[in-house]
Amino acid sequence: MNKIIDGKRLQSEKIVAFKEQISNISDKLKLVVIQIGNDTASNIYVKNKKILCEKVGISFEHLWYDSITEDELIEVIDRLNNDDSVTGILVQFPLPGDIDANKVIDTISPLKDVDGLTTYNMGALASGQKCLVPCTALGIVSILDSICDSLEGLDIVIVGRSRLVGRPLASLLLRKNATVTVCHSKTVNLKEKTLNADVLVVAAGKKHLIKEDYVKDDAVVIDVGITREDGKLYGDCDFDNIASKCKYITPVPGGVGPLTVTYLINNVIEAYYLQKK
Ligand code: NAP
Repeated sequence: MNKIIDGKRLQSEKIVAFKEQISNISDKLKLVVIQIGNDTASNIYVKNKKILCEKVGISFEHLWYDSITEDELIEVIDRLNNDDSVTGILVQFPLPGDIDANKVIDTISPLKDVDGLTTYNMGALASGQKCLVPCTALGIVSILDSICDSLEGLDIVIVGRSRLVGRPLASLLLRKNATVTVCHSKTVNLKEKTLNADVLVVAAGKKHLIKEDYVKDDAVVIDVGITREDGKLYGDCDFDNIASKCKYITPVPGGVGPLTVTYLINNVIEAYYLQKK
């Protein structure tokens, strides 16, 4: 296998498997994505989700609002929670500043929370129970599973402690018996920590935060970060200077991103089975 991990290839393999799983389900699965406003990146993400859902046979509904109050949004989510034809509900971020994102997330039924962001699902994940898990964290674990026989005993350093990526990923990796270190913006001497990593996952959103001398020889580097600059995408790792010294590395774009959207499909299937129980 090439040391540059091809997220698109892994995505194609997963899509075949998920499509097969969906074809064995007699009910029609449906994902509803709620978007407020016209954020350019959100428009692209929603479009990608729609394309993928249609590809695997999941109905896709896009509820778009130019503007909406918090109360109205909560009403919409309540209606979807009670609609048996809806398998999954996803609120596309960012939300307008006057809407309380935590309140909105926690209005989503935990059984339909395909982003895995409700307090219930975050708590269930941290306590090792079956639940819906944020897609990026699942995508990263699937990449690691494709290149490592086992993660047990490995020193894995995660840069970033967000609810979306760092925290759920740490929980998943602990389940796999890795030794996990989570770094953040207040970490003192980041380089000392990253140099210890057998696997380094970087999700800070800071272009080229990780330089060549932050990475141990033969490490696996998973670059989650995306910074848009002059129409180009950059990761958190200085890819050109790091690639030669590591065992595997994900590019940006074309690494973690394709797996993130793919695991949304996984979560719609999971949500279906959780609701059936
Ligand atoms: P976020 O909520 O802004 O969290 C960023 C995390 O990085 C925070 O924990 C922050 O620390 C930490 N951080 C920031 N600057 C740092 C520094 N200089 N040193 C060490 N840690 C630092 O972002 P997110 O939602 O997790 O996303 C992170 C990046 O991944 C973004 O670029 C996002 O676009 C990208 N992303 C990509 C995908 C994909 O599919 N490829 C999916 C999700 C996100 P504090 O907690 O101390 O503030």
